[in-house]
Amino acid sequence: MTPVESRYALSPVSDPGTEVVLLKGRGCFWKKCVFCNYYEDAAEEDEAAALNDQVLNCVTGETGRLTVINSGSWFELPKRTRERILSILREKKIRVLSTETHWVYHEKTKALEEALCEEGVELRARIGIETFDEDFREDVMRKGIGKGVSPEEIASYYKECCLLYGMKGQSEMKLREDIRIALSLFHQVYLNLYMGGEGLYPEDKALTKDFRRRLEKEFRDQERYPGLVVLSENTDLDVG
Ligand code: SF4
Repeated sequence: MTPVESRYALSPVSDPGTEVVLLKGRGCFWKKCVFCNYYEDAAEEDEAAALNDQVLNCVTGETGRLTVINSGSWFELPKRTRERILSILREKKIRVLSTETHWVYHEKTKALEEALCEEGVELRARIGIETFDEDFREDVMRKGIGKGVSPEEIASYYKECCLLYGMKGQSEMKLREDIRIALSLFHQVYLNLYMGGEGLYPEDKALTKDFRRRLEKEFRDQERYPGLVVLSENTDLDVG
């Protein structure tokens, strides 16, 4: 698989019914989350846009939905890339766009949603919340959403969210509470299993092992947890 092909997926098993592109931007402005090094997948504007053009050439529009992932937020993609995506939506009659932004961009995200709505495109904005335990999220994970922002307020700007489980200090009880809140407020919820890594905050291997052995099957049951997508391998979205 070439580097370009590895950045495109059609209807991955974990999230069927969408095309997924993993694009490059200038990198996340925040870079402080203790569990993350994704922002290293970044490049200068022209280099990133040239790669993104090749990846976007793979998009056919056949599912009617496009998911754009980058190591950061939609607004950190090159302007040329964002414009190209919007013209692909029009050309290929894609009616749903899922893409992620950090909370710092929530007002800009709402403006994007309104602009796309006028063109008949539904924006399913996605946000990494990781947990609704805001002390853990802000003091340990250093997510940068801030304290005192209610789940309902976040859900008034975003339709999809990501949760993270498996860091030292987390528990199954909190995970169940996070999933309950997330599914009550968001259209789609992505549950990422933490894998740690060099220089990153420690993974709780007992928790992640127990998740794979006992909980994963339960949370993949779409009748019990409609809208919950479990991502327990880095490649579960078939990109990267
Ligand atoms: S906001 Fe997202 S990309 Fe940026 S450091 Fe945190 S997890 Fe990584």
